[in-house]
Amino acid sequence: MASEIIGPNIGFILNNKTPADVAKAMIESGRQKEPFYVFNMDEAYHRIQHFKKMMPRIQIFYAMKANDSDKMLKLAAELGLGFDCASPGEIYKILKLNISPLSIIFAVPAKTPDGMVFARESGIRHTTFDTINELKKIKQFWPDAKLLIRIKVDGESIYKLGEKFGCDFETEAVNLLEEAAALGLKVVGVAFHVGSACSSADSHVIGMRRARALFDHEARAGRSMNIIDIGGGFLSDRTDRIDQVSKLINSTLEELFPDPNIQVISEPGRYICDSSCNMYCSINNIRRISPEIKNDKLERTILWGPSCDSMDRVMQNVEILLPRCTSFDWLVFSTQGAYSFGFATFFSCLEKPLIRSVISQTLWDQIKNSIFFGSDIFKKDPDISSPLPSTVPPIVKTATIAGSNYTLKI
Ligand SMILES: *Cc1c(COP(=O)(O)O)cnc(C)c1O
Repeated sequence: MASEIIGPNIGFILNNKTPADVAKAMIESGRQKEPFYVFNMDEAYHRIQHFKKMMPRIQIFYAMKANDSDKMLKLAAELGLGFDCASPGEIYKILKLNISPLSIIFAVPAKTPDGMVFARESGIRHTTFDTINELKKIKQFWPDAKLLIRIKVDGESIYKLGEKFGCDFETEAVNLLEEAAALGLKVVGVAFHVGSACSSADSHVIGMRRARALFDHEARAGRSMNIIDIGGGFLSDRTDRIDQVSKLINSTLEELFPDPNIQVISEPGRYICDSSCNMYCSINNIRRISPEIKNDKLERTILWGPSCDSMDRVMQNVEILLPRCTSFDWLVFSTQGAYSFGFATFFSCLEKPLIRSVISQTLWDQIKNSIFFGSDIFKKDPDISSPLPSTVPPIVKTATIAGSNYTLKI
């Protein structure tokens, strides 16, 4: 009997099966035809627990832009995390989960007036700034905001943020703090982000030293700050990637910010969610430009995405070597939980791949009474080969023919 179609809202509780078993069963059933993600809740859970264990003083404000899927946000909420929101839409999504606005930092240093009013009226108190212009807007639209000055700290990262965000520590930071004070605004802390996927272990330390200097400046001026925000940027490919950098961060905090009344927050995104998803892609079409080769050889392959855009090429700068592909094969992309479907486009009405969420019985037992997860959101003893629904739209039967002057010859 063919397995029933089960939508992405219903997750699977797994007993003695792995997330990869689920993907394999879906593909081998022949009924799952479109690309899909498998989201492994346990992996995200272990990442959060590992982060907390390695840096017990640091409070996590999950950077939800990395992965804002419903179950990821609910897991973060269930584990008591705060949230780093970057837009009114993100704030709305978190408040709809019934999370306190005081657990949200609106951590984007360039906001629109409407965005500020929305945040203020939603009860959010904290945001960042890095220009005088932003301070003036804040004065007008959100004068009671608690501000963190965002300074530039660029590490050896794959995605640098310093060109766009953060004031220069040497030449701008003190002026901005003075300007804020002159406007009567309250600066309560310092924030930085070393860039996403940062491999230099000392970048966070540099940021904390600069933050200390600004704390000292404020103290000398008779003002005080009490929050340091060390941003995100942690590498995601292995769980233990943060072990080394966390030791440095902990010892630097002890040295520079021994006062336990200073609140230390971090905004990890990629580290929390990246390894929790694999993406499975069906191959739809093949064009051969080299002659038949022996099966055991790898051949140079160009992977094109599904859209009509010729820029839509996967890993353009990488030489991809694959066994000779057929249109029955699937490609597995691992570590696709961060900045993947969030970056997907609806260009030419293409749908995003759907997500199959899975959770172990052990973790489910732990969180099933959560106020965030309804009891029917995960299915026990599922047929793991059940396909996700097709994203092809329903057929429209046009009753009356109207409008166009041109019709094609039949
Ligand atoms: C994107 C972003 C993060 C998350 O960065 P990761 O590299 O995913 O950890 C944190 N803070 C701010 C302000 C960001 O813009």
